[in-house]
Amino acid sequence: MVSSLIDPTTRWWKAEVLRATFLPFEVDTILRIPLSYNLPEDKLIWIGNRKGEFLVKSAYHVAHSIVDASEEGESSSGDPYRQLWWNLWHLNLLAKIKIFAWRACVNGLPTCANISKRRINCSTACPICGLEPEDINHALLHCEAASLVWSLWLDYPRPPQGHHWSFLDMALHLNHSNAPQALDFFFVLSWAIWSKRNKLVHNDSPLSAPQVWTLANSSLEDFKNVAASLDILPPRHSQNRWEAPPQDVFKVNVDGATYYKEFSLCVIPLSFAFLSM
Ligand SMILES: [Zn+2]
Repeated sequence: MVSSLIDPTTRWWKAEVLRATFLPFEVDTILRIPLSYNLPEDKLIWIGNRKGEFLVKSAYHVAHSIVDASEEGESSSGDPYRQLWWNLWHLNLLAKIKIFAWRACVNGLPTCANISKRRINCSTACPICGLEPEDINHALLHCEAASLVWSLWLDYPRPPQGHHWSFLDMALHLNHSNAPQALDFFFVLSWAIWSKRNKLVHNDSPLSAPQVWTLANSSLEDFKNVAASLDILPPRHSQNRWEAPPQDVFKVNVDGATYYKEFSLCVIPLSFAFLSM
């Protein structure tokens, strides 16, 4: 009942109960809903018309408006997924990690559970612990091997006790926590955990939890170094300024291009005399 979420003394939402029950962005939305001071009894109200009574005709209009909104490109600014996707593609991470993160959020990684759904003859059991089916949430969050890695992140924003958030829930939570670096690190650490899992599946030497931690941190560091070096590099054309050859010397300028099954080459010999004409 909604009334269980409202404190009758303060006549306001029980914020702690909300936080323990809903995802952060849902809590924010609920806390913005004003409450009647009289605290009337809970009752079902149809929001499709002013009387609050359900009519098929008004249901038709509501359905129509929903379809219209979706055809306009799902432009609702309150859509938490849209904001997550936008932020995800603008994170300070290597492109391969952003692609991994997006695939993990949309359940697009080749876990044993996902491969099994495609009717490929494969066990759904986790290849690391063998205790549970390997879906995205188990592989990246709940498997013992993954938990060991997460335990190294001392500031890891864990869900409230007793709650088992999915990978997507965690991403949404971090996306709304106004800590973009936490979202960066959540994804890069998940990527490193998935890399460890793949090494084990392909019989490569397995990584320990501290090695996975180091891999994630060095990947973040690599990206920062590359970004920093790109910022300080001078424009390319200032380094490769063409100069005419000395007298009696030929300079050969070449350029080439390749395309599918085709190759072209351009060679231009230039001499001081030719340039002087
Ligand atoms: Zn496992």
